Amino acid sequence: MSNRKLVAGNWKMHTDRSEAIKLTTEIIRLSKMSDVEILLAPPHCLIPLVGNLIADLPYIELAAQNISEHKSGAYTGEVSAHMLHSLGVSYVILGHSERRKYFGETDQIILSKIRRAISTELKVIYCCGEGLEDRNTAIQNKIIEAQIQSSVLQLTPDQMQDIVIAYEPIWAIGTGVTARPDQAQQMHAFIRSILADHFGEQIAMQVPIIYGGSVKSNNAQELFAQADIDGGLIGGASLDAESFVAITEAFE
Ligand code: PEP
Repeated sequence: MSNRKLVAGNWKMHTDRSEAIKLTTEIIRLSKMSDVEILLAPPHCLIPLVGNLIADLPYIELAAQNISEHKSGAYTGEVSAHMLHSLGVSYVILGHSERRKYFGETDQIILSKIRRAISTELKVIYCCGEGLEDRNTAIQNKIIEAQIQSSVLQLTPDQMQDIVIAYEPIWAIGTGVTARPDQAQQMHAFIRSILADHFGEQIAMQVPIIYGGSVKSNNAQELFAQADIDGGLIGGASLDAESFVAITEAFE
């Protein structure tokens, strides 16, 4: 277990201006300062708005859902890491299965985004996860090992300070089917062992490994009680302030 606890809400392509104000205001009203880092990842265009609302709360930080792999230039429609950093964003979610599936993000693109983020002082929530077929044919460890190998194992030990890993089995994302706590724990321990073999025990213990995939207020406690689960990446339930805040409080 890492000594950091972290819960991130990925709002995906949801909320408009007034919904974002309402959701953020409710989260602020219901949450209290603790040792849990709370991250909100609104759509890019709502980041300044949400950022202004949480400006006085040191325990709530901003995350982005994506960055361009390029530094700057003629890339119509893209948003750079620096632009987001200049708006107060501290984290970016990279490697999410929706970016891999719908936007063709390869391991190579994801690695170049990870490097771009770190060099721009953004921390990274790196998502990995196997599909249902992989799990049914019991090759999930091989899939995760290959994803970790192509991404964080390419970094230096120093750069690992800026990495959070999110294990998100694709079959659990947005499906209402959560990995059993023992299944999630097994994979988190496996990821930590890969980090320990490559970087050593100390770094492996420092990197938070969070779980994502249909985490709700009624299953978070059991998941977060597992030895190697340091928090959650929350999709659907992050759009409901009461559920989201309850999840941030589901640590023992
Ligand atoms: C996600 O998209 O990262 C996610 C975990 O979604 P959900 O919580 O809705 O399964």
